[in-house]
Amino acid sequence: MIVRNLRNAFDLRVSRRELLTAAGATGLVAALHPFSAFAAANQAHLRLMETTDLHVHVFPYDYYGDRPVDTVGLARTATLIRGVRAEATNTLLVDNGDFLQGNPMGDYIAYERGMKAGDLHPIVAGMNQLNFAIGTIGNHEFNYGLEFLDNTVAGADFPMVLANVAKGTLAASPRGDDMLYEPYRILERTVVDGDGNRHPIRIGFIGFVPPQIMNWDRRHLEGNVSARDIVESAKAWVPEMKEAGADIVVALSHSGIGPATYTEGMENASVPLAAVEGIDAVMTGHHHLVFPGDAFAGIDGVDAVAGTIHGKPATMGGFWGSHMGLVDLLLEHDGTAWTIAGHTSEARPISERVERKNVALVESQDDILEAVRADHEATLAYVRRSVGKTSAPLHSYFALVADDPSVQIVSQAQTWYVGDLMKGTEWDGLPVLSAAAPFKAGGRGGPEYYTDVKAGDIAIKNVADLYLYPNTVRAVAITGAQVKEWLEMSAGIFNQVKPGMADQPLINPDFPSYNFDVIDGVTYRIDLTQPAKYTPKGELQNADAGRIVDLMYDGAPVDPDQRFVVATNNYRAGGGGNFPDIGPAVTILEAPDTNRDVIVRYIVERGTINPSADANWTFVPVEGASVVFETGPAGQGYAADVRGVNIEATGDGEEGFARYSIRF
Ligand code: MN
Ligand code: MG
Repeated sequence: MIVRNLRNAFDLRVSRRELLTAAGATGLVAALHPFSAFAAANQAHLRLMETTDLHVHVFPYDYYGDRPVDTVGLARTATLIRGVRAEATNTLLVDNGDFLQGNPMGDYIAYERGMKAGDLHPIVAGMNQLNFAIGTIGNHEFNYGLEFLDNTVAGADFPMVLANVAKGTLAASPRGDDMLYEPYRILERTVVDGDGNRHPIRIGFIGFVPPQIMNWDRRHLEGNVSARDIVESAKAWVPEMKEAGADIVVALSHSGIGPATYTEGMENASVPLAAVEGIDAVMTGHHHLVFPGDAFAGIDGVDAVAGTIHGKPATMGGFWGSHMGLVDLLLEHDGTAWTIAGHTSEARPISERVERKNVALVESQDDILEAVRADHEATLAYVRRSVGKTSAPLHSYFALVADDPSVQIVSQAQTWYVGDLMKGTEWDGLPVLSAAAPFKAGGRGGPEYYTDVKAGDIAIKNVADLYLYPNTVRAVAITGAQVKEWLEMSAGIFNQVKPGMADQPLINPDFPSYNFDVIDGVTYRIDLTQPAKYTPKGELQNADAGRIVDLMYDGAPVDPDQRFVVATNNYRAGGGGNFPDIGPAVTILEAPDTNRDVIVRYIVERGTINPSADANWTFVPVEGASVVFETGPAGQGYAADVRGVNIEATGDGEEGFARYSIRF
């Protein structure tokens, strides 16, 4: 009777709180999931737990900042996982991919220690402590090549499935492909029902990765493997899983929760994937977001509160171990087959925000830390030690008044990376420019809030200082006219300057420095006598004004109709800062790598970098005027080297800043 009511309640999508209240009313502990509390003789409660996008995070540690943090780490997620195991009889833990790359421990293994046959990768060492049932392969697993991946996967004590990547070229149809991994696996398990009786069940798992891997890791994959469309592959393999006796089918979709409308080759395919007949639940990832959760509200077919896609349970467990995804199934056996009588979805966090601070909700599991401790220590040594040299100091003290080395290095790395990814695409051959802004440029951050890395050895932990945010690389394709408008928006950081007047304040404090994009690859001058064309919020305010003059590419004036590729980050390409025309409509590349990782790779591959600013932008002299600005007092030692502008220290400024003037 109670069970019947509960099932009806599920049909009405009753809230989890009401369910817990129902459980509490029976006198059982509230933590016990109602499916466990009420499962009848022919019913079994199965809990599917997910980790996803771990990106080599085992310790709760930020290797770039070289400090402990409470927001990441499989050692913490493991506490949630073991908590669920302690409270329920039937559990399965899966990993949804992107475990192999994405923090300095991954780089340490890839660039320093290596991954020979027989070596154990630290992320696998951590995962092996947790009795994973199965995993899938994410796009980042291909970053270091197929041999590296093979040697890594060989150490895992759980199988991997992947249904849309084949060796060599594709066959006429998916089931004819020579698969790189087994496309699916059916795990034979025993579940205990509500009366304590054991029943066999066959749970099928099938894995998917974005087919974009063929572009993102072209240098490793071209000629070796081929990728297929996710939905096409699912439609081919899921019926075979059912024929082979799978009672339920779970998709391990290393693909985000994207558009409801299917398009061939789509990267974030979990919504149309969930609609494929025969799939019962979808574990998702790749987006580095949380499902159920607000980030996915309003997508057709998606219930972001209940955690369903096309009515089927789904989850996304954040990233870097931030969450454990959880799908609870109430399975019912009618004498011939298992059906799903009820389901709930969750994503449980390892930390929470309290008064603008991250507070841990769980402690680490010691055995997982111990399994990885030696590689953790080696990674600490690695991030603190020189991995390359810089022939110029990397500082941002004068980033708002002159071309600057801390911005230059970001653009050099972005141009290098995006230029490579354009090869073989329809944009191959277009000039690649790069936009980057100073992130640490004093302001409200105070007089010490600047990038300051001395010339000489450069360590990985210094890269955090060059690139504060875990943004990812993107690129847009735009016209010369749009490049100019981008720069007009940036130039709004300056106050209008009058000829013949001394000591005019140069910088508008309401304009954030992270929106002061410098575009590298073109040269230009900024005419400060003109009013700003755009407000700091990106509204057109002086349509006829123009501060950007002498915009040149390759020694000739930029043709307004010429096409350019501009490397940037997900913030700007997503429309952040409201720059004119810059947004998803002009985005041609959403790269999988963080800008920070690209800078590290650039430094490691180059050995010595030369980020000397090339003064590609300067001010047009303003007749008889001078302007003033403030910077950190530690910038004094670099002042003489600033090119393209005459700066002069004029004493102390406000609140610990140092004051400078520019005479034209
Ligand atoms: Mn990822
Ligand atoms: Mg991914």
